[in-house]
Amino acid sequence: MPITEFDLINRFFKQKFPTRRDVVLGIGDDAALCTAPAGMQLVMAIDTLVEGVHFPVNTKPEDIAYKALAVNLSDLAAMGATPAWMTLALTCPKVDEAWLARFSQGLLELATAAEISLIGGDTTRGSLTVTIQVTGFVELALLRSAAQVGDAIYVTGTLGDAGLGLAAIEKRITLAPEMQNYAESRLNKPTARISEGKKLTSIANAAIDVSDGLLADLNHILTASKVGASLNVESLPLSKALQSINRETALKLALTAGDDYELCFTMPANKKPPIAATRIGTIEQQLGLRCLDKDGKIFISKISGYQHFS
Ligand code: ADP
Ligand code: MG
Repeated sequence: MPITEFDLINRFFKQKFPTRRDVVLGIGDDAALCTAPAGMQLVMAIDTLVEGVHFPVNTKPEDIAYKALAVNLSDLAAMGATPAWMTLALTCPKVDEAWLARFSQGLLELATAAEISLIGGDTTRGSLTVTIQVTGFVELALLRSAAQVGDAIYVTGTLGDAGLGLAAIEKRITLAPEMQNYAESRLNKPTARISEGKKLTSIANAAIDVSDGLLADLNHILTASKVGASLNVESLPLSKALQSINRETALKLALTAGDDYELCFTMPANKKPPIAATRIGTIEQQLGLRCLDKDGKIFISKISGYQHFS
């Protein structure tokens, strides 16, 4: 007998997920009820992943779920927020219990680690599409619009790894097996920099998460803050995997490939960042973004990154 929608939600999305004291009413009624902490602002983000657009057909269900949550957590991290609750809109072509079990397991893994409750959602039939909406709290959010002339520009972690993983999966680049495993895991299971974002709220002037590529995302900070910047491409943090390929290709991936979900932030140049991060440039009065090589020559001037509808 086919499983009912109620059973499906109960089995795969209600049980096992972390419970929180601030959730008054979770899955089961017409809507969820939560208590917001006094003195904090609510922060909300939503992202949709469509099969064949945001992840390849036949991506592991646990990886799809993990990434759908991770990309939202990354948006909250870039605001300096603490995530608390999520809702899930899941559209699938059919009820595949084995697929759903793996999907809910991937979601549970990250939800448990980040102490997030799944408080509701919607389940529909159609082409595989996953939308997750996350709500969190923040006292004083990090914005894109407050970068100051003279600020140092930093990034967490390493850049270009997810782009490298995609290039390897699509056989555009050949990597040693351990390098390929690393790059693919960076693509499929990105780490949202939540604790880093929280520590930055007291010191950073502006922040963004690198989802579309460093140049595209840093450019959002520059536009919103009405400033310019120069970047030193030699200082870009590259993983061992990225260092194992042709250097020019590696730098272009680090500058333009998306999906890394590292934080790019700006803060006064005379202070020390409170988290592990690499300085990659400086905010300047002159508008535009200049990428300089080790001799101070322009490396590439065109701003490019992955843009939908272009
Ligand atoms: P309604 O018809 O009132 O919109 P639904 O039948 O869609 O209600 O959902 C019933 C309950 O199950 C609601 O509390 C809803 O939030 C929850 N729910 C539905 N789908 C999901 C899902 N994929 N994940 C988590 N909760 C879900
Ligand atoms: Mg209802």
